[in-house]
Amino acid sequence: MLMLMEVLKENGIAELRPPQKKVVEGGLLNKNKNFLICIPTASGKTLIGEMAFINHLLDNNKTPTNKKGLFIVPLKALANEKYEEFKGKYEKYGLKIALSIGDFDEKEDLKGYDLIITTAEKLDSLIRHKVEWIKDISVVVIDEIHLIGDESRGGTLEVLLTKLKTKKTIQIIGLSATIGNPEELAKWLNAELIVDEWRPVKLKKGIGYGNKIMFIDDNGNTINEVIVDEISKNNMFNLVVDSILKDGSCIIFCNSKRGAVGEAKKLNLKKYLSPDEISELRHLKEEVLSVLDNPTKTCKDLAECIEKGVAFHHAGLTYEQRKIVEEGFRKKLIKAICCTPTLSAGINMPCRRAIIRDLKRFSSRGYIPIPKMEIHQCIGRAGRPNLDPYGEGIIYINNTENPELIENAKNYLIGNVEEIYSKLSNQKVLRTHMLGLITTGDIKNKNDLEEFIKNTFYAYQYQNTKKILENIYEITNFLEKNGFIELNYRRDENKDKSNNSHNNKKNISNTNNSIKMLVLDNNNSLTIKSRHEEDVYYNITPLGKKVSELYIDPLSAEYIIDGLKNLHKKTLSNPKNMECYILHILYIISKTTEMQPVLRVRRKEENDLINDMIKLDIDVDDVIYGISSENLEYFKNAKLFYDWINEIPEEELLLGYNIEPGILRYNVEQAKWMIHSAKEIFNLLNIDNKVIKDCLNDLEIRMEYGAKQDIIELLKIKHIGRARARILYNAGIKNANDIINNQKNIINLLGEKIARKILSELGVDTKFGQMRLSI
Ligand code: ADP
Repeated sequence: MLMLMEVLKENGIAELRPPQKKVVEGGLLNKNKNFLICIPTASGKTLIGEMAFINHLLDNNKTPTNKKGLFIVPLKALANEKYEEFKGKYEKYGLKIALSIGDFDEKEDLKGYDLIITTAEKLDSLIRHKVEWIKDISVVVIDEIHLIGDESRGGTLEVLLTKLKTKKTIQIIGLSATIGNPEELAKWLNAELIVDEWRPVKLKKGIGYGNKIMFIDDNGNTINEVIVDEISKNNMFNLVVDSILKDGSCIIFCNSKRGAVGEAKKLNLKKYLSPDEISELRHLKEEVLSVLDNPTKTCKDLAECIEKGVAFHHAGLTYEQRKIVEEGFRKKLIKAICCTPTLSAGINMPCRRAIIRDLKRFSSRGYIPIPKMEIHQCIGRAGRPNLDPYGEGIIYINNTENPELIENAKNYLIGNVEEIYSKLSNQKVLRTHMLGLITTGDIKNKNDLEEFIKNTFYAYQYQNTKKILENIYEITNFLEKNGFIELNYRRDENKDKSNNSHNNKKNISNTNNSIKMLVLDNNNSLTIKSRHEEDVYYNITPLGKKVSELYIDPLSAEYIIDGLKNLHKKTLSNPKNMECYILHILYIISKTTEMQPVLRVRRKEENDLINDMIKLDIDVDDVIYGISSENLEYFKNAKLFYDWINEIPEEELLLGYNIEPGILRYNVEQAKWMIHSAKEIFNLLNIDNKVIKDCLNDLEIRMEYGAKQDIIELLKIKHIGRARARILYNAGIKNANDIINNQKNIINLLGEKIARKILSELGVDTKFGQMRLSI
């Protein structure tokens, strides 16, 4: 404890906060005791995680113990933030800290690191690569563990925790927002539960309408009403200015990126800025504009807002842009931020007044209510320690006083938040993880499988292992049918001795791996039994291993295999139609589950898309019955990628396809990964087809850079991206040799600094004198 307190003091923490004390008194330093900690946002959960890993990773002399700790966060952006923070605090003690959020098929060498900051997905993929340092882990901290209930990501976290919790030598510390059923989660984790309502700054909760804020207590009774000065017709603006004039700052949470940008554009705080602030904000504006070679509309919008003391913040911004906004807000230059709830998910940016603008958001099922837990995390950001006497969390409902809306908002602010539920029944999650567990050898046979399922949160919560097993057997059948795994039936000698009927079984499955078998029962009559009633052993095939390491859905792999086999037939009949094949591959990857949801097709676009699909002979076998609307959507998506790799300006793509820059980036990232996966899978198919191979190789690069075929050779060289490659190509320089033979030209075209880097990459000695000499 002494050592721990010393380390904390050296990092500016003089005293533990009440919930932190409670955890330490509860036995945090007992290295075998798991904890689930549910305390409000911003009250100091991270520090509890830090205490746990300091306790494991440093000895009494504050030197590394050679044990390993993992810190699991839900978002890459958060991983970056924690990495910077922990490096600043703990590297001085000799702890080696790593950030592991890269590509999924990399087997990173993290052996020499003490603390690894990663995401659940990345850790899961590392485990699939059987990294041997896993055995050195002695503490795992899971930030935002309540995300186990998240529809798309919860399953991976659950599988990971199911594995970790069986390893008795690992201490698990789960950090959670307030949830409705913490006891259940804690019991499943074999963890001591610590729940506390303590906050560093008092939070006042209120409902805003018109120019009024009605503050309420925990029972929903009105405490007081505040009238905000009406300086403009825009009530949100009045609410923001009211806070700023009292030296506060505001975050406005909106339900979409577009909403956040729109709201930010409506706020002009120039009148409330000092001359110094105006000049500093101009610098920030320039910084934002210089992040990208060609500033996009989002970039320009952000720059314009920043000049007025406002910003927006959402997943569509680049990492650098986000950092500039966060820094500007912390320095109190940017007075208000309009954002999506991503900002509430852990990024430490408190404000005086947190305003919720929307209580519903658009989803595939139409507009749905935002979970109460999320709203609490957002308003929990209100109250800057040591700066604000209190924080204000306000749900802003409307311009008018509407009793129904007020009641709804009240329900959001008081009472319990939702319970969380296992999302392990999600088919995609199950397919991916069953394959992963068989790859790693965690599941070797039917017994292992049942044991694993019994240990899941799903089985714990629903007490119905049978139901999930039925589901899982369908999945193992799918995996077997498609060649990802093989099922073997080993004779259980003990059973054989006691029951001769086992010797009488006759497999009626053919090589196609049917799942039924004939068995002679005790009355000597033949019955058909499901194979899963027998002793089944699961073996991974090379294809299954590859798909598991690529970390993609086996169903996607199946689409890819099917699609590439069809394409192979096509290339045989018409080997020259490269553009068609490229579009075809882009169409195949658009079908994968990783690429969903794809772009929607508008009625007026349908005819053109159908005509193109027929012309290109893509999925038109059943054209008599029409092309399904889903296929049209996949094709539209493929066309977006096709335009991207043909250097259609980003701005034009965003407008033409009606998407946000962040979504385009995300889709391009995903598509690159799926092309890479297709390439790897194709190599295993034993199909000798150079055309497809070349297409896949080129596409991987073209997708990364959004570039045409002609500059591929240049893009393979480090420090050359799309813009530089185009400059060189237009000047007649087309490959590495041309560069080496035209050094002077390269300097003129790209400047000396860059030219030097590129030449040195190509093995040209670029020491100043020699460079001159060679020119
Ligand atoms: P949470 O993870 O609960 O949302 P954080 O852990 O990010 O919140 O903590 C919010 C802020 O409080 C951080 O800036 C952190 O350094 C600070 N903090 C945490 N514990 C203490 C403490 N005991 N004394 C002073 N500051 C603390």
